[in-house]
Amino acid sequence: MNRFQVAGTVRTHQIGRLRVSYVPDGLVKMVPGFLFPATTPEDWVAGARFLDADGWLTVSSGGLLVEHERRAILLESGYGPHPEPVSSPEHGTALMYGGAFVDNLRELGRRPDQIEAVAISHLHLEHFGWAAQPQFAHAEVLLSEAEWAARDAGFGVTPQVVAALEPRFRAITAGEEIFPGVTALALPGHTAGQTGFVLDGGDGTRLLVFADVMHSPIQVTHPGWHLVGEPDPQRSEQTRREILRQLKDESTIGFGIHFADAQFGRPRETPDGLIWEPLP
Ligand SMILES: [Zn+2]
Repeated sequence: MNRFQVAGTVRTHQIGRLRVSYVPDGLVKMVPGFLFPATTPEDWVAGARFLDADGWLTVSSGGLLVEHERRAILLESGYGPHPEPVSSPEHGTALMYGGAFVDNLRELGRRPDQIEAVAISHLHLEHFGWAAQPQFAHAEVLLSEAEWAARDAGFGVTPQVVAALEPRFRAITAGEEIFPGVTALALPGHTAGQTGFVLDGGDGTRLLVFADVMHSPIQVTHPGWHLVGEPDPQRSEQTRREILRQLKDESTIGFGIHFADAQFGRPRETPDGLIWEPLP
């Protein structure tokens, strides 16, 4: 098994003045041809190292803890307390569960009440799950205005979720610094107002948190593969190519929240094309 085939684990890196940690919550196993409808079985023979022994694509669910001195913010908050696995391969999801988020946060030395805000890229359940739970009821919820306005089109956005998030919701705009060294970035195409984050370490190093611009590291090699069900797949592809262009900068590290156990990494040019190389 390689790191593209297994669930994400707690990993911490230092981006200059910022300490960043992947906080795993759970796992989603997707049917690859469902997620990327234009792909063929041959594409997945060539991309076999991205599939597990059952032929599923491993999509991790979790969040990114960002710490600056005593302060802490979360970027994304996993799927939520749903430890009972859901399985519906006919709808593309072979397996989905969550629940380890708070324990992993504690392992990293933080209690939920020490988190000042949860910034969410977009309103899909595996990104906002824990933000709607009582453990985080004190934390501000940061989201773009366009994404909040289109919440009825979200995934997993029930009336209870809206009631839990609404009193704490604050709209953020592209270019806004939401935490020391953390700036919001528009990532159009995937949903009405998907927002990513640029982390500036203050020493020339950067982390680019690109949310669902890519679901799997195989898209680094195939940025033209369109995801099922996106409102604007062309725009989404443009955004993907722009992110890959920005990641050519040697001082920039990428963060793909769904990238199995390979969240932190960089694209690298090889004779076979561009590949995702996880940080050690
Ligand atoms: Zn997602």
